[in-house]
Amino acid sequence: MSATSESSPAVVADFVLRGAGDLVTMSAPPAEGLGTIAGGALAAKDGVIVWVGREAELPQAVDLAPDGLDIDAEGRCVLPGFVDAHTHVPFAGSRAAEYGERLAGVSYGEILARGGGINVTVEATRQASEEELARLSSRRYDSMLRHGTTTAEVKSGYGLTVADEAKQLRAAATPHALRRELTFLGAHFVPPEYAARAEDYIRLVCDEMIPACAPLARWCDVFCDEGAFTVAQARRVLIAGAAAGLSLRIHADELARSGGSLLATELGCASADHLIHAASEEIAAMKAAGVVAVMLPGTSYTLGIEFAPARAFLEAGVTIALASDFNPGTCDCENLQMMISLACQGMKLTPDEALYAATVGGAAALRRNDVGSLAVGKRCDFSVLLAESRSELPYHFGVNLVGDVVVGGRVVVHAGAVAHDTPASEPVPLFARDASPEAGGPL
Ligand SMILES: [Zn+2]
Repeated sequence: MSATSESSPAVVADFVLRGAGDLVTMSAPPAEGLGTIAGGALAAKDGVIVWVGREAELPQAVDLAPDGLDIDAEGRCVLPGFVDAHTHVPFAGSRAAEYGERLAGVSYGEILARGGGINVTVEATRQASEEELARLSSRRYDSMLRHGTTTAEVKSGYGLTVADEAKQLRAAATPHALRRELTFLGAHFVPPEYAARAEDYIRLVCDEMIPACAPLARWCDVFCDEGAFTVAQARRVLIAGAAAGLSLRIHADELARSGGSLLATELGCASADHLIHAASEEIAAMKAAGVVAVMLPGTSYTLGIEFAPARAFLEAGVTIALASDFNPGTCDCENLQMMISLACQGMKLTPDEALYAATVGGAAALRRNDVGSLAVGKRCDFSVLLAESRSELPYHFGVNLVGDVVVGGRVVVHAGAVAHDTPASEPVPLFARDASPEAGGPL
């Protein structure tokens, strides 16, 4: 491709995507069609988008380096990579059997009382080496990438000692193509050795864990709810986190209307997450304070409880994000396509509202302006669906509709499989013609 435009010189690129049936840029809100370009193309250099437009304009607009990567979406729909703003990835152990018990009517209180529930995850995570946690995390990151997530927030919160929380955060940072934002969540749960001594545990979190973990994370989170930490305790943790240089987010109003989202507005948290019991007062306060509402429909689904009032947040003008809450207790699902489907059914979002919340909304919840949409200056992170239309995503549910994923201008998932060793400059054909939605790595 060479530049011949008389009016403006071509931009130099080392990556071109052409052949998108619909290129959904997310540069416009749902009511305006998500900035979709029919017959779209984009170009990038050094992993950053340098041009977006109609493919017909590509030859004049872009000068692709001779060794650049030129890939063809062959008429499929291209979306920005999903931004999952709430996950609990680095844990060990399985609680699949507990799920069956809960479905059979055994209460979580009974399971906890005999040492089950989160105690099982805490014990297994403490026993696991950092290397084992890194290996487990890496496999989960592979699965997130295969399902189209290119940026994820990842929390600690199952170590609950100074050493084990730091171990979780170091493991979560294992080298991987998935972009990550790490969050310290030492105040997730009062561990058994501090039973009935929550104040002592909060002191440990503030005085020892935060100083040790702040260098390993960007965010500080706290589980502020009935049966977890009080507003006063959560305030102390978040203030200590902020003093250590961490930005703030909070688990709020999931189990009861317990004051967490109002605390988020008081302290300037980037997001308040869950919000099942948030009412008009909380919604108005979050709108005024610019706190993003993170919706986690997979948790409502797993627990068989009501969904958060996403429509009320939207109608009040609050930015919403849609995230997985991937965790071993209440949502063992890292697939944001499934969350989009659940948000449409359970929260009555339109398909485009759900898609916007899973991309632009997730980026807002993480205060990132470089991911979540496809525009000049943003990261070249996108997925190519095994479908021509984005409307397939909520409708054709329960399977993986992502075929290929690019992060930073590099193909990291090809035909459903993670390409760990793909050099950035190697020209990889984007599709295997026989790719099925079920193709994937050995997970
Ligand atoms: Zn959570």
